[in-house]
Amino acid sequence: MDELALIRDADNRAASYLAGVADRRVFPDADALAALWAFQEPLPRLGRPAAETLDLLDRIGTPATVTSNGPNYFGFVIGGALPAAAAAERLMLAWDQCASSFDNSPVAATLEKLAGQWLLEALDLPRESAVGFGTSATACGLACLAAARRSLLARKGWDVDRQGLAGSPAVQVVVSETVHVTVRKALRILGFGLDNLIIASTDDYGRVDPARLPRLDDMTILCLQAGEVNMGEFDPFIPLIQAARAVGAWVHVDGAFGLWARLSSDAVRLTAGLDGADSWTTDGHKWLNTPYDGAIAICRDARALADAMNSDAAYAAADPFAQKNLTLEFSRRARGISVWAALRTLGVDGIAGMVDRHRALARRLADGLRATGYEVVNRVVLNQVLIRLEGDEDGARLTRIRKAAEASGELWFGPTIWRGRPAARLSISSWRTGEAEIDHAIAVLASLRETV
Ligand SMILES: *Cc1c(COP(=O)(O)O)cnc(C)c1O
Repeated sequence: MDELALIRDADNRAASYLAGVADRRVFPDADALAALWAFQEPLPRLGRPAAETLDLLDRIGTPATVTSNGPNYFGFVIGGALPAAAAAERLMLAWDQCASSFDNSPVAATLEKLAGQWLLEALDLPRESAVGFGTSATACGLACLAAARRSLLARKGWDVDRQGLAGSPAVQVVVSETVHVTVRKALRILGFGLDNLIIASTDDYGRVDPARLPRLDDMTILCLQAGEVNMGEFDPFIPLIQAARAVGAWVHVDGAFGLWARLSSDAVRLTAGLDGADSWTTDGHKWLNTPYDGAIAICRDARALADAMNSDAAYAAADPFAQKNLTLEFSRRARGISVWAALRTLGVDGIAGMVDRHRALARRLADGLRATGYEVVNRVVLNQVLIRLEGDEDGARLTRIRKAAEASGELWFGPTIWRGRPAARLSISSWRTGEAEIDHAIAVLASLRETV
């Protein structure tokens, strides 16, 4: 089969998957999972025809997908893929651009620069910031935190690039009690030591309590959150960032999904003061609904990020702000182009509309579940609904209901622990999800509460 026939075959299969995405089981059934054994072939010595490989992938792989690109997926906060963004990615696959610098891809460099400027405008963050497109909020957070430490040390005359960390002035890190595990991971990899992290106490909603903020100084990195994973809440940025700025601490905001609330009609209430921070991370692949994987590192001091992530070499010198100098990745595909496509196609109003719609759907879901006897644990300020059942202290009944929901194929949502007690969490973040899916989820969960 020639190349074009193969690509068309793949496109046809992809289109037929998408055509049925609203009606697919959300979690694969037992037969589809068992069939995955068909992949367990010995590594072939002689290659097989490409068409056969594609056919195997579709035949065995497609039934074993989780339909996270469908409207009935409520796990994590991982969104679907917007048609405009997914279409851009398909074209980009043909281009096979390496988005490291202008030399490697003028179109990628141009569009990612523009996407970066648009993002700063849409999210209303300092326009002078550097914007890097990395693989994940994990990796982008790591890049920002490395830039933070490098800058704080440089202010004390310490060149961490040359001198390393041994014997360096101490940098302390303050994180929220509810900090995301990936921020802890980034700090761990950077060598801060989990035992050395200073924990900021949180209030009943999981927000850092300004009255109990640990002492900060000019060698402190304070990690805050826009959109905590369970409650969906926002730290009170105004007092916290004021306290940090007063002493010269660096503030990093993890807004993997919550940063998009900057476009909500409630942005002021939720995120006021957030733009006073020094660095921010957010994902494209979550609430913006771009395909995996794509995330964004934003750093007010553009030079700080560019110097920390610099990877110029004699054979690969570039603009100091070329993408390869703003993230961990050296070679990568042009992730920023799907961000550009999403922003251009939806426009600011379209994204704001999606965010507000998801927030309204979350409230609808919470009201419906409450009415059928579930306990809703959070205030539902964003797109997260955390549920429990009364008298189900160990969460065993809720787990049975969740497993029954999974087995039904009708919807999927995940488990969590909040304040030491098991709970379940439903997130609404796909452009495909509407009132019909919410009402269906309520009906399924109501019936499972009666029967499981
Ligand atoms: C998902 C998430 C992350 C990590 O993002 P990845 O892109 O999956 O690495 C960090 N913080 C929060 C609050 C998240 O929800």
